[in-house]
Amino acid sequence: MIEIIPVGGFREVGKNCTAVKVDDEVIILDMGLHLQNYITYTQDEEEVDVSYEKLREIEAVPDISVISEWMPMVKAICVSHAHLDHIGAIPFLASHFKCPIHGSPYSIEVVKILAEDKGVKLHNKLVAHEINSKFKISGAIEIEFIGITHSVVQTIMIVIHTKYGALVYVNDFKLDNQPTLGHKTNLGRIAELKNVKVMIIDSLYAGRPIKTPSESVAKELLREVMVSTNSKSKAMIISTFSSHLARLKSIIEFSRQLKRKPVFLGRSLEKYVRAGENIGIIEFSKEAKIIKYRQEVQKFLKNCKRPEDYVFIVTGHQGEPKSVLARMIFNNYFHFKTEDIVIFSCTIIPVPGTIENREKMESELRKKRVRIFRDIHVSGHGAREDARDLINLIKPKNIIPAHSEIKTAEQFLELAEELGYRENKNVFIVKNGHKLAFK
Ligand SMILES: [Zn+2]
Repeated sequence: MIEIIPVGGFREVGKNCTAVKVDDEVIILDMGLHLQNYITYTQDEEEVDVSYEKLREIEAVPDISVISEWMPMVKAICVSHAHLDHIGAIPFLASHFKCPIHGSPYSIEVVKILAEDKGVKLHNKLVAHEINSKFKISGAIEIEFIGITHSVVQTIMIVIHTKYGALVYVNDFKLDNQPTLGHKTNLGRIAELKNVKVMIIDSLYAGRPIKTPSESVAKELLREVMVSTNSKSKAMIISTFSSHLARLKSIIEFSRQLKRKPVFLGRSLEKYVRAGENIGIIEFSKEAKIIKYRQEVQKFLKNCKRPEDYVFIVTGHQGEPKSVLARMIFNNYFHFKTEDIVIFSCTIIPVPGTIENREKMESELRKKRVRIFRDIHVSGHGAREDARDLINLIKPKNIIPAHSEIKTAEQFLELAEELGYRENKNVFIVKNGHKLAFK
């Protein structure tokens, strides 16, 4: 029998974590942070209590008490991709499990760097598997990592093969036919999957009646702004998701065209770029300068006599008060001049706090008469038509929407019903701690 306990990330966006039990063996899929809760808690202080107990209390990490009876049976933790809402709780939580952590090379490298950064020594064995490969957990369970596209490289669909059929975990994904970095979705292998008992699927944008555009579209949006805007003698500052190596690669390419040197400023950018360079998938530091620590960032910007020779790639796209962009604007790290260019290659995550922080930034930039280009972005999450394609391809017997609040889960349900599924018969909107069993 396959049993599933959603541990985190159901009826909420964040702290993704699902436990799957096959007879007497358990596999944990993802161990993420609730970013908003974590950031709100940690942003005001330098030293905070980040014990598991404290983080659980503020709902920043998954509450593993819902699987207390399963704990001795956990054989593996598998991670789907390197976003913090999928791996960010590992440094705080993994010590509760005496089992290896499996992921793609990039995800595993980021896990290592995150743990180092938090000063945590992980006792779990970290195992990197190539994309599109299989490995055995035991005589009864085989795991397969199938490459799929998203907004971070080396994202995988995790398939747990059992004698009862397969469980497919695809959280997060988009179906991008023209990714600008990394592998394509292995549609051939996905179409071959037979007897899929359950699919757990990212439904964040199931309510959007579109197919999410490719990253190559975002690249063109960026080209339009970076290369076609007259930026002669103006500073150019760009902020995007630090883990979005594909986007960063496009920024480097256009910097080259502009004959400006790209400079990465900020700790989180340095971390994700280093992870990519460590495993040999990018070589940004051949062309770009990377400055990690705040004091060095401040010194570099202060001594920079000709900003027009550079493209500054900075942290702070969500208005984070401790980010490099915030310090450039509010702490005089940088002297903005009229019609300097600030590009936000992202959308604003629509939660209170973030919206206000970004508005504060933009209003200050407007006062300085800086040109702002916002929303130069396409999402990493598949929308309704991506979900439809994936369901039609896999034809799972049962579906559980993940990564969404109740409203979006209900929109996903509409799609599932259109495809012949029925609520509580073979499509289930679950909540954290709510166990399901499939015979
Ligand atoms: Zn993600």
